[in-house]
Amino acid sequence: MATAMTPDRICFASDNYAGTCPEAWAALAAANAGHAIAYGDDRHTAAACTAISELFGCACDVYFVFNGTAANALALASLCQSYHSVICPDSAHVETDECGAPEFFSNGSKLLCARSLHGKVLPESVAELATRRSDIHFPKPRVLSITQSTEAGTVYTPDEVQALHAVAVRHGLKLHMDGARFANAVASLGCHPADITWRAGVDVLCFGGTKQGLPVGEAVVFFDRGLSEDFAWRCKQAGQLASKMRFLAAPWPALLDGAWLRHAGNANACAARLGTALAKTPGVELLHPVEANAVFARLPAALSAGLRARGWRFYDFLGGGGARFVCGWDCRQEWVDELVGDLRDLAAGA
Ligand SMILES: *Cc1c(COP(=O)(O)O)cnc(C)c1O
Repeated sequence: MATAMTPDRICFASDNYAGTCPEAWAALAAANAGHAIAYGDDRHTAAACTAISELFGCACDVYFVFNGTAANALALASLCQSYHSVICPDSAHVETDECGAPEFFSNGSKLLCARSLHGKVLPESVAELATRRSDIHFPKPRVLSITQSTEAGTVYTPDEVQALHAVAVRHGLKLHMDGARFANAVASLGCHPADITWRAGVDVLCFGGTKQGLPVGEAVVFFDRGLSEDFAWRCKQAGQLASKMRFLAAPWPALLDGAWLRHAGNANACAARLGTALAKTPGVELLHPVEANAVFARLPAALSAGLRARGWRFYDFLGGGGARFVCGWDCRQEWVDELVGDLRDLAAGA
């Protein structure tokens, strides 16, 4: 297990820079023994579907794919006809980071960007987009897509998801959740996973595994099982059907047996520690509340350059001095403290 006291100084750049968690690694080793039926008809895949169904406390249809872009794009495609549109926050991964995959796999469904605040879509903006046009010259709104936890490191409460569901229902929209960091949201809220999904009206969840400690793989969870019709064919056509499916599926029961929330809670705690320290650093301003495993802050250029010169890596794609630090499942408070120590040195002009 990655318990090094000295951090790789790239460890805050992204939560998919982290390795595989020991629970998943052990499950993979166990699943590696002997032969198993291919293409998902094996006992490991059955056990993973059962584990996810039991976690949520409901019957649901579950599919395993290689990555989050495919999970989102194929899930959205299954909700849309080509002439439909998907309302999402302007900061959504589906809009900004998937190279048009949702549009491609849906054969042209258009994404409509709603205004967001701290990564959360504004209900009034959803309503405005859903009602702006109803003529046949404009794609018909069909889905609301939200991200939990958000791209800004914030979390929707169960009430907020329910309120968005109410807006969605009012306007005939299905509700899709991009849960690449779903574990961080559940750990942050301390709620039952059902409270922010099917009980709050979510129809389809893309349940992230990769950022939570799996080597690869996400689960697409259909709470409205009618929407999963022919989804297996969609996965196969998109090149997302793993022939040795056991290796995508086997880590899930091990991860969901407590490890997912332990790791996500640890990552969240490290981010909170870093957020608190950054907020106290002269010249630094937090850009979003720190509610999950990411910290967004505006850093003076000299501070940012100084951290880089000391080997630290972090994203500054936000422009204007905006920086993103993300804590992975394996993050350690000592690593945070080392980064913070360098920050303090630099801020003091050392
Ligand atoms: C990481 C991430 C994904 C998945 O991205 P892939 O690189 O395709 O696995 C999806 N949504 C969000 C919000 C993410 O951060």
